[in-house]
Amino acid sequence: MDDIKDGWFTEKCTLWPGQAMSLQVEEVLYNKKSKFQDVMVFKSKTYGNVLVLDGVIQCTERDEFAYQEMIANLPLCSHPSPKKVLIIGGGDGGVLREVVKNPLVDSVVLCEIDEDVINVSKKFLPGMAKGFFSPKLTLHVGDGFEFMKQNQDAFDVIITDSSDPVGPAESLFKESYYQLMKAALRGGGILCSQGECQWLHLELIKEMRTFCKTLFPVVEYAYSTIPTYPSGQIGFMLCSKNPETNFKDPVKALSKEEMENMNLKYYNPEIHKASFVLPEFARKVLEA
Ligand code: SAM
Repeated sequence: MDDIKDGWFTEKCTLWPGQAMSLQVEEVLYNKKSKFQDVMVFKSKTYGNVLVLDGVIQCTERDEFAYQEMIANLPLCSHPSPKKVLIIGGGDGGVLREVVKNPLVDSVVLCEIDEDVINVSKKFLPGMAKGFFSPKLTLHVGDGFEFMKQNQDAFDVIITDSSDPVGPAESLFKESYYQLMKAALRGGGILCSQGECQWLHLELIKEMRTFCKTLFPVVEYAYSTIPTYPSGQIGFMLCSKNPETNFKDPVKALSKEEMENMNLKYYNPEIHKASFVLPEFARKVLEA
């Protein structure tokens, strides 16, 4: 537990050199090495329970909804009939929780590489892990890259809720993975992937956007604000096989009543549209 000192957890990583995020720790609830990574959960002073993989914060109970609601609803509300959904990663269950809320979704397959993350989340992050108890779910434990190869023309929406591109998630940021996702999507299918942060990884985002454009007729980048991700933001890469898709104008604008029923705390149709408006430094690079 080198990353906890004097009662504070500090997240340092070569992916964001020269900066760090700290949270005050009340108690370490779990700390073990799985087959794939170091898995830790601690109770923080002000952000609830926090899941950390290989020293990097994956989610906190206080702000997780800003990520989970956006990565789920940006693609689901852009597809006219998102019946079959695949989630890659997402072992905490938060994205799953959001996806199964959508009444248009009939079935969800979730493929997570690390069973320990699922079990730890069921125990320490029950508000997120409740998606695992949905009758819509088929759970698969395995590598998302390998799983994708086994599926053709199978899903309306694919959401990749992965950790960062080091360790087990590295392959999920490659062009070959996007080619496999394209084949696994049905006609008119849409994908949405964790797309890193424009303050830190603009070159990676640009590279990904460039290869996505060679594969899909419509490609957009959106982002959400979230205090405990590096630099307080996280992005989403969205691609559609349907040339008519306009991600910036949701085909399904949720009503106030639907949002109440879904208990949404971050996503609404206005923020959906606004999330594609990039600051000038990022727009210049990404749209060049
Ligand atoms: N929202 C978080 C973020 O942006 O940091 C990610 C949360 S979720 C816990 C990430 C999950 O992806 C982890 O549970 C990890 O085990 C899983 N994962 C990493 N590589 C994977 C792979 N190749 N196939 C399937 N799941 C993978």
